[in-house]
Amino acid sequence: MMDSDEILSLLRETGALLDGHFELRSGLHSDTFFQCAKVLRFPRIAERLCTALAGKMRAGLAGGAPINGVIAPALGGILVGYELARCLGVRSIFAEKEDGALVLRRGFAIARGEHFVVAEDVITRGGRVAETVEIVRRNGGEVVAVAVLVNRSGGKAVFSCPTFSLLEWEPKTYDRAQCPLCAKGLVFEHPGS
Ligand SMILES: [Zn+2]
Repeated sequence: MMDSDEILSLLRETGALLDGHFELRSGLHSDTFFQCAKVLRFPRIAERLCTALAGKMRAGLAGGAPINGVIAPALGGILVGYELARCLGVRSIFAEKEDGALVLRRGFAIARGEHFVVAEDVITRGGRVAETVEIVRRNGGEVVAVAVLVNRSGGKAVFSCPTFSLLEWEPKTYDRAQCPLCAKGLVFEHPGS
């Protein structure tokens, strides 16, 4: 198993987690910025993280029904879904946006009664995961678990099935007027732009 400190230091080493003074796209200020794609650039590290996530999920679901597949919302969830599917020895599919809603394309299908895990890299409000859970159910499948690398929702994203995350991490954010870093006169950056 990997502990939180080990995961956080991997995120920092790979540049996925930056420390500083940032203005986020929301306009809020923060002393950290997180970009999960940066850690997933490294397949060996992605494999380690997803193996740990799969282990946590397996332990939590011990004795449960067999898993038939993993589904992820594109784009962010695809790599996590793929690595989880590798660990579980099942197929990996993804849902993608079409006219503003997530749908299955490319001939991807879920058979009635199949058991799926919904995978995602990061959840903040969890809207894309909830939409993907609905796709599985509409097709007659069952969602046995939601598995995410980083849960930033602070417990606010709740799904009607067991949810597993490798790391629970909620960044501190401030309105610009209340930002303690601005108060110190520190210059902020716009990361990721
Ligand atoms: Zn600030």
